[in-house]
Amino acid sequence: LRQGLAKTRRSVLNQLKAIVGQGPLDERAVTELETLLLQADVGVTVTDWVIQQIQAQIRQEALPPELALKLLSGLLRQVLERPYQHHAPNLTPVPGQLNIWLITGVNGVGKTTTIGKLAHLATKSGYKCLIAAADTFRAAAVEQVKIWGERAGVGVVSNPSANADPAAVVFDAIGAAQSRGVELLLVDTAGRLQNKQNLMAELQKVRRIIDKKAVNATVESLLVLDATLGQNGLRQAQVFTEAANLTGVILTKLDGTARGGIALAITQELGLPIRFVGAGEGLMDLRPFSSYEFVEALMG
Ligand code: GDP
Repeated sequence: LRQGLAKTRRSVLNQLKAIVGQGPLDERAVTELETLLLQADVGVTVTDWVIQQIQAQIRQEALPPELALKLLSGLLRQVLERPYQHHAPNLTPVPGQLNIWLITGVNGVGKTTTIGKLAHLATKSGYKCLIAAADTFRAAAVEQVKIWGERAGVGVVSNPSANADPAAVVFDAIGAAQSRGVELLLVDTAGRLQNKQNLMAELQKVRRIIDKKAVNATVESLLVLDATLGQNGLRQAQVFTEAANLTGVILTKLDGTARGGIALAITQELGLPIRFVGAGEGLMDLRPFSSYEFVEALMG
């Protein structure tokens, strides 16, 4: 993760040291810190909150560099951990039963790649895994997902007819998963935003099939967001939060941005935990998200 965050780290860390390292934090340093957080795409709400907390603290006591850094990393972690509430910090399939993870995201954000990486990660951890190619709108998407399935050594259920019904693919995939004792079924779902009504109808139909055919399955609905899109990605995400009953976010391309602070804006604005982060194009470049590790990689 440190490597993945290298760009953000370089742009944040040096400045942070210069701001905080000069001695007890004063008002001027706090203002510089505010600018730095905004530059890293942490977002206005989180930045305001962090700055208020720090100001409240320095009114009470002087904050030497070490304490200031500790306070700051604690505050950033708090923001990232807020949406966990009742969830365990790491998302893993419940062993010995069917888990269905619906993966959504706008074309180009890295959805297919992420499904391949998730399949690899799950298989490596000993889970029996299967992929449903239910983003049937793009023929190329089905081919792509098959290539990733092969790389990860995981089967892909698809429907060869053009414009097949995604819900039908999911229906077949659940059947296959149940008969093969699959523990994790990854469902590649539609990624087009142009028509929100269609998107919603399609996702809801898929959901109904799951509720009917896989009554006891544990279902997660994960949105893939591209970190390089920054605040624009957040706007895309709002549509999916309405359409897909999201339970979490997967943040890709962290390696491609110096504004990795977007992770904090996401948890704040969407109220959803980040579950995995992608930082590279390879099969292994996906990690479970840890707020501790993230803040360490950013500031430590
Ligand atoms: P999809 O249209 O959402 O399914 O996107 P793809 O999975 O086809 O990915 C789009 C592009 O983003 C490809 O060139 C991927 O290699 C690249 N990509 C995906 N994830 C990452 C990542 O974490 N880091 C980097 N640098 N590139 C990524």
